[in-house]
Amino acid sequence: MEHTLPKLDYDYGALAPHISEETMTLHHSKHHQTYVDKLNGLIKGTEFENATLEEIVSKCPDGPMFNNAGQHWNHSLFWQLLAPNGGGEPPAQLAEAINASFDSFDNFKAEFEACGANTFGSGWAWLAQGDGDKLELMSCSNADNPLRHGKNALLGVDVWEHAYYVDYRNRRPDYLKAVWNVVNWESVAGLLK
Ligand code: MN
Repeated sequence: MEHTLPKLDYDYGALAPHISEETMTLHHSKHHQTYVDKLNGLIKGTEFENATLEEIVSKCPDGPMFNNAGQHWNHSLFWQLLAPNGGGEPPAQLAEAINASFDSFDNFKAEFEACGANTFGSGWAWLAQGDGDKLELMSCSNADNPLRHGKNALLGVDVWEHAYYVDYRNRRPDYLKAVWNVVNWESVAGLLK
């Protein structure tokens, strides 16, 4: 099946000043589109040609197909977890799960920021749910994600340089702090199992 670039629920400039229109335009229409195009080329003639994106991300071998499928899945989720009027605090059930796993919302945010800042090179910081209610942080390289490890992804933040270099240059920690202003906590909470 042909994989396609998902449309955003908001304009490219809607997340400014936290994430600029220039970054969103490049990130969605160039970077994400390229992952989709490469994935469509790579699955042709393979056993994954008619597989769902989730099946590919879960089962395909490491290498170019996983890299592009993973990035398509990661970005498709990432866009849904952001919103122009985001920020604030999570809904009650998610807030309770975060407090139970990280002691407090503030402590969770500090640990998540450190997870993203300490992810070496290109990758993603994730809040994930494994077996049971316990939430955990995952520092993933390149396209790696919780789904690949059989875990439920709740929040992912892209820490590839293309996600922040236009706006924050080398200051990845400043980008990570700014992202809290545009997190769509309703969407994140909707992913709880
Ligand atoms: Mn990206």
